[in-house]
Amino acid sequence: MTSLERLIENVDTSIEEIVKLEQDLVRIPSVNTGIMPTGNETEVCNYISKFMENEGIGTKLLSRDYGRDNLIIDYPLSDSKDCKLIFMSHTDVVPVENESKWNYEPFGGDISSGRVYGRGSNDCKALLTSQLMAMVIMKRSKIKLNNGLRLISGADEEHGGRWGFGWLLENHPNILKAEYAINEGGGTPVEVGDSIYYLLGTGEKGRLELNLELKGESAHASLPWLGTNASYNLLKVLNLIQNYQPELNISLPFFKYLNHFGIEENVTSENVEKIIELLKKKLPRLSYLSKALSRMTITPTIINGGVKSNSVPEQIKLICDIRTLPFQDEKYVIKELDELFSDIKEVKYEIDYMSVPNYSPFETELKDAISKAHSKSIGVEEIKLIPSTSNGFTDSRFTRNAGTITYGFSGAHPNDDPMLANVHGTDESIGISSLVSCTKTMLTLAYDLCEGK
Ligand SMILES: [Zn+2]
Repeated sequence: MTSLERLIENVDTSIEEIVKLEQDLVRIPSVNTGIMPTGNETEVCNYISKFMENEGIGTKLLSRDYGRDNLIIDYPLSDSKDCKLIFMSHTDVVPVENESKWNYEPFGGDISSGRVYGRGSNDCKALLTSQLMAMVIMKRSKIKLNNGLRLISGADEEHGGRWGFGWLLENHPNILKAEYAINEGGGTPVEVGDSIYYLLGTGEKGRLELNLELKGESAHASLPWLGTNASYNLLKVLNLIQNYQPELNISLPFFKYLNHFGIEENVTSENVEKIIELLKKKLPRLSYLSKALSRMTITPTIINGGVKSNSVPEQIKLICDIRTLPFQDEKYVIKELDELFSDIKEVKYEIDYMSVPNYSPFETELKDAISKAHSKSIGVEEIKLIPSTSNGFTDSRFTRNAGTITYGFSGAHPNDDPMLANVHGTDESIGISSLVSCTKTMLTLAYDLCEGK
């Protein structure tokens, strides 16, 4: 038996411990409302520091503000100061919207039918638990690494990372520099026939906030013709947005892989809509993803206006969410908006970048290592990876900006139905099988890339 095989066996004998660590982390409500003071990430960091110290692994905490620490752990038995691989995750969780709809305590860490329930159980404390346990299991077997391995779990991921990875990038950029990083934001299985495909998160769409101001002229509502009602301009703008025909673009590498899913013709911008329809029944998640990855979207999300119920509103503000593809820059967005609103002179707008689109190349040593590690972890000959661009965004944009090739891969087990995860929703959960497969995958990946001995 090789020492890696023995380590993987050690994961199987540590399942109770893995589940307990996950439960303990879920039971610390590190809720991030986006309004300071919030997050309470330090409590998670302190718990982990104590846990790791018992294993002889030191931790470092860095924070912009009290209570909002970021956790940094360098694997102690390493010959090199240079970091080859970063294990990434975050410690904050989104709030619980409607507790009465939950069947489990949101911060109880309950176990039922092979799953751990609770806010953050999936996003992102499962990945964090697996990465921690991968380090612990290697350390217990006194595994030495030739190359550096670092774990970073950030604060504030759920509200833009200004206390987390964003702050680290500005204030401690060297910590984020490595050859490779592995984070959330990918790694869900898609089974087709006998083959198992996994979406590897190689990039993220951009997100902008569009602030529109619609002008009118106030008057008493009893004589409305004396004014100009801004609501009617809002109506025109909403109609235009609803009927917006975005340019269809299939240049992301993702589209080259659709023929693995029973799509025989090559995808073109002419037939992509038809293919999205075809996929809808058989593989709905791939269908939605194909739609999101083939166009820019504009979605109205907030409307504010009017001051009094008997006054004609003079001003209405409309906020929209815009998602762009990696090659659609600010100039492109402005051109699209100018064209869309060209007939309405009462509209003024501003755009604000929340996250710029970002990506890492697909053909890398890290991709091959993930494929190998996860195949071994779930006991199949070979899983196939497909480069996917996320419609949302994660902290990966910060490490990619630091020059680190970063992929999203959560290491989920194929028997763990992704539809049960309910990330950010009611009864969020993770299959225990995924906690185990992810721990094995992270361990194998580190052992392989960092050259364990
Ligand atoms: Zn997350």
